[in-house]
Amino acid sequence: MPERIYNFSAGPSMLPLPVLKKAQAEFVNYADSGMSLFEMSHRGKIYDAVHNDAVRLTHEVYGIPTDTHQILFIQGGATLQFAMIPMSFLGQGKFAEYVTTGTWSQKALKDAQLIGDAREIATGKAENFMAIPKKFTVNPSAEYLHITTNNTIKGTEWHKLPDAGKVPIFADMSSDFLSRRVDWAKIGLAYGGVQKNLAPAGMALVIIRKDVLAKASQTVPAYLRYDLHAGENSLYNTPPVFPIYMMKLVLEWVKEVGGLEQMDKWAQQRSDLLYNAIDASGGYYKGPCAKEDRSRMNICWRLPTEELEAKFIAEASKKQLSGLKGHRSVGGCRASVYNAMPIEGVQALVKFMEEFKKANPA
Ligand SMILES: *Cc1c(COP(=O)(O)O)cnc(C)c1O
Repeated sequence: MPERIYNFSAGPSMLPLPVLKKAQAEFVNYADSGMSLFEMSHRGKIYDAVHNDAVRLTHEVYGIPTDTHQILFIQGGATLQFAMIPMSFLGQGKFAEYVTTGTWSQKALKDAQLIGDAREIATGKAENFMAIPKKFTVNPSAEYLHITTNNTIKGTEWHKLPDAGKVPIFADMSSDFLSRRVDWAKIGLAYGGVQKNLAPAGMALVIIRKDVLAKASQTVPAYLRYDLHAGENSLYNTPPVFPIYMMKLVLEWVKEVGGLEQMDKWAQQRSDLLYNAIDASGGYYKGPCAKEDRSRMNICWRLPTEELEAKFIAEASKKQLSGLKGHRSVGGCRASVYNAMPIEGVQALVKFMEEFKKANPA
């Protein structure tokens, strides 16, 4: 096995190699302190600098205005946000609207309905979520409109935020974080597990608009209070030091290689390469999702038979192309190509797709 393979896994997923190397070099003795960063107080000067750098770089690299939005690091991943959001914003007499576009948005809705008045105003369920529903109107009295910007499992993505009028958009951005410019003015709250595009697993990154923050409930248990996390700069209790530190390194790497524009460009290049390979295969490979809604992060395709799909995945993994099995609810193949996937990895996959097709006619 070579030192590094191309890992197309949906999450956790690849991290940039320079980041892994830097973390390795700094692991045992951080900043000449005689300790690792993971053994020292989270209230000390050394950790404080790491923490504040991570916050500052998130604003800077992602273009998030500091006057309107605040960044929080909260444990429990995206999944805890499914519950924390309605607990904070769906008190008596309030309601929110949800558009379901796949498995994760259905989970978000289900948790919200346990807690408050959460209404599904549009769903792609009838088409097995192979397209993003666009015909809906948002009730101006809703507390928020919830969407999932990229559907990791089904392979679709919102390429433009929907029109929600003055209603703040709450978005699960777990799987397309930091891959394109976002119109933050429309975003009341964005959240996601960091383990796809930003860092190792262990927390959610939450980006919250200050007027929305002001409305968050203060009568839920402490850890679930956005205002407490915000007031303490995500240091209300011991923060998830490792993912925060790794995210800081990833953000430094993003900055060094060309910033958000470069992430956007690479995302376009990777997905263009793969969708072109699918569309130019004369029907051998078939992309099941509506073309205009195809994800740039999770590229799904089918082969002529399930036997060929199994063979494709097995032979690919022998060529150091791993993690290509589609989610069990969809079948087929899926290549997750997040920010850290080198273009060379995608080129190697495309080459393999062409060879496999020639060697295994339908
Ligand atoms: C992976 C994923 C999740 C789950 O994230 P956790 O951090 O494991 O809770 C939620 N939403 C989307 C869109 C995802 O891709």
